[in-house]
Amino acid sequence: MSSTGACEEEASRISVAVRCRPLSNSEKNNEVVDICRVMDQRLVILLDPGAASTDYLRHDKSKEKRFAFDQAFDPETSNQQIFQATTQPLIGSILQGFNCSVFAYGSTGAGKTFTMIGTQQSPGVMSHTVDSLFAQSGSDPCVSIVCCFIEVYNEVLRDLGSKDGREGMLDLREDPVTGPSLTGVTEFQAQSVEDVMKLLQEGNQRRTTEPTAMNVTSSRSHAVFQVRVERRDLRSEAVTLGKLSLIDLAGSERASQTHNSGMRLLEGANINRSLLALGNCINALASGSVFVPFRDSKLTRLLKDSLGGNCRTMMIANVSPSHLSYEDTLNTLKYANRAKNIRVSASQQLIQPDDHVRQYTHAIADLRQEAAIL
Ligand code: ADP
Ligand code: MG
Repeated sequence: MSSTGACEEEASRISVAVRCRPLSNSEKNNEVVDICRVMDQRLVILLDPGAASTDYLRHDKSKEKRFAFDQAFDPETSNQQIFQATTQPLIGSILQGFNCSVFAYGSTGAGKTFTMIGTQQSPGVMSHTVDSLFAQSGSDPCVSIVCCFIEVYNEVLRDLGSKDGREGMLDLREDPVTGPSLTGVTEFQAQSVEDVMKLLQEGNQRRTTEPTAMNVTSSRSHAVFQVRVERRDLRSEAVTLGKLSLIDLAGSERASQTHNSGMRLLEGANINRSLLALGNCINALASGSVFVPFRDSKLTRLLKDSLGGNCRTMMIANVSPSHLSYEDTLNTLKYANRAKNIRVSASQQLIQPDDHVRQYTHAIADLRQEAAIL
């Protein structure tokens, strides 16, 4: 029997949802036109921005773009509804030992952070997830739920759960049984949704945000919230391990649009490198390629076990309805459309007690190999 028992396997493809945010008051005051229509909770129609008009009937239908997704959410949809439709169905799987991930993709200002972190009044997917996990198994003494919150910025991993940020101190290791793991990261055994909301809000403020020509608070980093759920069977001592990664990706807009230069350009290159690597991994997985270039960036190395193989993946593509964001919105919809083709095979991760011996043997072999390379 293999060391990570694939007790249950199922082929499923990445599930893709699109969320269109409402126009902001300042957009409305500045006569920005809403060119995004969500229909039947699956269809997204992007109207021709050239003839921007609030009157749908006056649009040139031959120029509109239509896309169908697993789910599509209109601007009235609340964060709680987004959670219930996208992430809640994954909670049972995590408790059974599957790895799951939820990505928020989209350009700056499209609503990624609102969706994943949210506000005090409207907590995002991350808080709702922990709330739901606790509601289902928080009082079970055999279950341990541990969270961490990190940032990938310029290909450097930073600990958002630590007050001093611990830049550069996080080490990414590949564990043959449990997958990529971070050494030195601050881990939280959160007891309530308020605790988690505090961690997320404080951590989010520690994220590296620098002014760019496009948006003064544009987020140039990827934020990853990971929840590890271990369930120990008292009789057999076997442990089921499920990991959920919730990712607020950096803005997907092209670096050229933000008139970046110098340091900003370097950041742009790195952000693109991580997003590019993510796109390449998505393409490789979608085409059934044997080789998936996970090692091409920190983000894809970190999420190696959250994308292919033992994993269920959900992408929430965020878009702005503004006619000024037409190009970005179209790019996001095309990217999300490509992601629909990924088929992944999810298998349950069950670790037998003697796996630890095997695990250490592998780890030692890995270290020897690394030492040899150095
Ligand atoms: P991103 O993280 O993609 O750059 P944000 O999440 O910061 O974008 O959203 C940009 C602005 O729009 C914020 O002020 C946010 O509060 C607001 N916003 C985004 N999505 C929604 C929504 N669904 N409902 C209400 N306001 C939203
Ligand atoms: Mg953001």
